[in-house]
Amino acid sequence: MPEYRAPLRDMSFVMNELLESEKLYQGLPGYEEATADLINAIVEEGAKFAEQELAPLNRVGDEEGCVWSEDGVKTPEGFAAAYSKYVENGWPALSASVEDGGQGMPNMVGLSMTEMVGSANWSWGMYPGLSHGAVNTIEAHGSPEQKEHFLTKLVSGEWTGTMCLTESHCGTDLGLLRTKAEPQADGSYSITGQKIFISAGEHDMTDNIVHIVLARLPDAPAGTGGISLFIVPKVNVKDDGSLGERNAVNCASIEEKMGIHGNATCVLNFDGATGYLIGPPNKGLNCMFTFMNTARIGTAIQGLAHMEQSYQGALAYAKDRLAMRSLTGPKNPDGPADPIIVHPDVRRMLLTQKALAEGSRAFIYFLAQQGDIVSNGSEEEAKQADDMMALLTPIAKAFMTELGFEAANHGVQVFGGHGFIREWGMEQIVRDARIAMLYEGTTGIQAMDLIGRKVLGSGGKLLMGFTGLIDTFCEENTAEEDAQFVAPLKALKDEWLGVSMQIGEAAMENPDCAGAAAVDYLMYSGYVTLAYFWARMAVIAREKIAEGDGDTSFYEGKLMTAQFYFERLLPRTESLKTTMLSGADNLMQMPEAMFDL
Ligand SMILES: Cc1cc2nc3c(=O)[nH]c(=O)nc-3n(C[C@H](O)[C@H](O)[C@H](O)COP(=O)(O)OP(=O)(O)OC[C@H]3O[C@@H](n4cnc5c(N)ncnc54)[C@H](O)[C@@H]3O)c2cc1C
Repeated sequence: MPEYRAPLRDMSFVMNELLESEKLYQGLPGYEEATADLINAIVEEGAKFAEQELAPLNRVGDEEGCVWSEDGVKTPEGFAAAYSKYVENGWPALSASVEDGGQGMPNMVGLSMTEMVGSANWSWGMYPGLSHGAVNTIEAHGSPEQKEHFLTKLVSGEWTGTMCLTESHCGTDLGLLRTKAEPQADGSYSITGQKIFISAGEHDMTDNIVHIVLARLPDAPAGTGGISLFIVPKVNVKDDGSLGERNAVNCASIEEKMGIHGNATCVLNFDGATGYLIGPPNKGLNCMFTFMNTARIGTAIQGLAHMEQSYQGALAYAKDRLAMRSLTGPKNPDGPADPIIVHPDVRRMLLTQKALAEGSRAFIYFLAQQGDIVSNGSEEEAKQADDMMALLTPIAKAFMTELGFEAANHGVQVFGGHGFIREWGMEQIVRDARIAMLYEGTTGIQAMDLIGRKVLGSGGKLLMGFTGLIDTFCEENTAEEDAQFVAPLKALKDEWLGVSMQIGEAAMENPDCAGAAAVDYLMYSGYVTLAYFWARMAVIAREKIAEGDGDTSFYEGKLMTAQFYFERLLPRTESLKTTMLSGADNLMQMPEAMFDL
C-alpha cells in the first residue's frame, strides 16, 4: 500500500498564498479567529491523524470489508476505534457552527481535513463525511426541537448521519420514489419502504444513526413535487435526549461491490419507522439539495484524494524501479539500469497526476471559501458566492472524479504489471475511485445540470460571473513572462462563452443537442476552470522566484507543472470542442432496433 503523507506545503500554498485565507476570513464576521497560524496548526494535527491512524487501515478495510449479521454490521478491524479517537479529538465539530456545539472554523479548514482523511482512507472517511450533510440539512431546515434532539450529537460525532434517496427502481429520477410517510396523531410520521445503496447505513461505530429520508405523504402529487423529507433515527430519542427503543428501520443486507469495501453500502427497510418531517411538505427535494450539494463537494474531494494518493504511490515507485536506460544516456551509471522516472512516458503520467491534483486542490479549496462567503458574508457577497457555487459544483463533482479515476489508472500503469497485483495497493485506488463518477449524480447528470439549469437556464449569467473573474485576472496580469498562461486562458474564456451560445442555439432547434454536448461541455469547462487556477498559481510562483523567496524549488516546480498543464492537458479542450459541437444526429439517428444488428 502506498504510504500517505499529507501534502502540507502545497495545502499551505493554496490556502495562504493563492487564496489568501487570512485576509478573507478577517473580513468575514465569525471567522476572525481563522488566522494562517491557526489554520496551519490545525492542518498539521489533522495530517498526523490521517497518516498515523487512518492510512494503515486502508488496506485492512479493503481486504476485510464490512460483515452483515442480524445484529448489525461490523466494520473492518480498527475502524470503530479510529472513529472513537476522531471524536475524542473533536474533529467532527471542526467547521460546525458554535451555536450547535461546533468549533466555528471555516468550511475550507474542514475541507482540508476531509482531503487528508479521504486520501488516507476514503472508505473510513465516508462515515463522518455523510454526517456533514445531515448536519447542514438539519441546520438549514430543521425545527428548534429537531436541532436540539439531533444536531448536537451529530456535530460532536456521537452519532452519524446518512442520506436515503435511492430505491431499487430509481436513483437519478427521484420523482419515481415510493417510500411512504403516514401522519400519526402525535405529529410524527410512520415511514414505510425500502432504500438501497445507503452508504454508512449501518455500522458499529456509534450508538445511533440519523437517517435523512425522502418519502411521499398520502395524496402527494406524482413526481418530484410530491416528495417530503424526514429525520428517521435508528434508535428513537426520548424527550430528555436519551436513547429509547430501537426504531423500525433495519439493515436487510449489505452490497458486495467493486471498491470502497470498508464502507457499508446498505439495503435499509423502513417498516413503519417513526420519522419527523423536516421543512415544508412536498418540498423535500429542495431541502435535500442542501445535503446533495454538501455531498457533491465531498465527492469532488474524493477525486482529489485519489489523484494525490495514486501520485504519491507512483512517484515513490518511479524513483525506485529500474528499467532500461534513459534515451539521452545513463542517469544511474553505477546501477544496472536507470530508474523509470527518467523516461518521458513515465513522466507524462506522473505530471498528469501532479497537475491534476494540485489544480484540483486549488479549485476545490476556492469553492469551499465560496461556501464560507455564502454563510458569513454580506447579503450581496453571499448571493455572488452562491451563484459561483451553483455553476462550479457540478463541474467540480464530475470533472474531478473523472480525472481522479484517470489519475488512479496512471498510478497502476507506472507500476507496470505490479500495478495489477493487489500487494502494491494501486489497483485498490482504481476500484475505490470508480464509484465517485456514479454516486451523488452521475457525470452525465452533473453535465445536464451544468449546461441545462446552470448555464442556459440562467441565460449565461452564472457563467459570466466566473468568466468575469478570469477577465479581471487577465487584465491585472499583463507581464510578458505571464503571457504563456494568460493569453491562452483569455482565448479559451472567450471560446467557452462562444460554445455555450452555440449549444444553446442548437438546443433551441433540437433539445437533444444539449444532452449530446453535455459531458464534453462539462469536461471542457473543467479544463478551462483548472487553467484559471493554474495561471494564478504560475503568476504567484513567478513573482516569488523573482523576489528570491527561499523556497525557490517549490515555486519552480509549480511553474513547470503549470507549463505541463497548459501544453499537455489543456489542449484536450480542442477535441472536446469538436465533439460537443458535432450535434445530436451522430448519436440519435440510429433507430433503437439497429443497436442489435
Ligand atoms: C457504493 C454506492 C453508494 C451509494 N450511496 C448512496 C447513498 O448514500 N444514498 C443514496 O441515496 N444513494 C446512494 N447511492 C446511489 C447512487 O447515488 C445512484 O446509484 C446514482 O445516483 C445513479 O442512480 P441509478 O443507480 O438508479 O442509475 P440510473 O438512474 O438508472 O441511471 C443509469 C444510467 O442512465 C443515465 N441517465 C439516467 N437519466 C438520464 C438522463 N436524463 N440523461 C442522461 N443520462 C441519464 C445515468 O447517468 C446512468 O449512466 C450509492 C450507490 C453506490 C453504488
